[in-house]
Amino acid sequence: MKADKIEAFYQRLQDADPEPQTELKYVNPYTLLVAVVLSAQATDVGVNKATGPLFATVDTPAKMVALGEAGLKSFIKTIGLFNTKAKNVIALSKLLLERHDGEVPRDRDALEALPGVGRKTANVVLNVAFGEHTIAVDTHIFRVGNRTGLAPGKTPFEVEAKLEKVTPAQFKRHAHHWLILHGRYMCKARKPECWRCTVADLCAFKDKTPAPGTPARKAGSNRRPKPATKKPASKKRAGKKRRYK
Ligand code: SF4
Repeated sequence: MKADKIEAFYQRLQDADPEPQTELKYVNPYTLLVAVVLSAQATDVGVNKATGPLFATVDTPAKMVALGEAGLKSFIKTIGLFNTKAKNVIALSKLLLERHDGEVPRDRDALEALPGVGRKTANVVLNVAFGEHTIAVDTHIFRVGNRTGLAPGKTPFEVEAKLEKVTPAQFKRHAHHWLILHGRYMCKARKPECWRCTVADLCAFKDKTPAPGTPARKAGSNRRPKPATKKPASKKRAGKKRRYK
């Protein structure tokens, strides 16, 4: 995608949602970190359901360690992979106490050294908790980057590097959320809603989804399908009176 199109792409996402927010609920950088760790292969809605009651009383690493692994499991047992996640959250809470006085470090390497924290999680925490211009590439951003031509890449890391390169400075702070929300609610995996998409004219995706009710085109055809027309009744039939039984 060319630079002028990229600028217009982000401008429209910004106009539609000037201050995008994460949909994960949290009360401080520590609870954000825990919520992001829990959200791997789970929905934000599912995580919020579990963390609402948890974060009401457990909002620091010290309180989490005191709660213990079994206690944490009782809060998060509705979330996928909760056994491993509970282990990681207790271990990372202990490390935060040992190495960082119970604070979440504003540093990629220190974050990635925590159990259960990879590059994507570190990017989310740096962006949301500390306002850093990082772009965490999840499944939605990976898809949007490739489909639209904004940042094609074979791996999440490649897409992240491209986004870093092509995203204009003024859009970097919120690029992560604009792209994730666009992928989640508009440029959906199975059926992107191209007919109502604000960036459709900028997007390189060839097989755009037509508006519901539009007759389907033949694959590879650029011609509009002919509208269905009624066959004129033959003279013979037209002249005949219809009999009703
Ligand atoms: S036009 Fe379709 S494929 Fe392109 S960004 Fe919009 S929803 Fe996604």
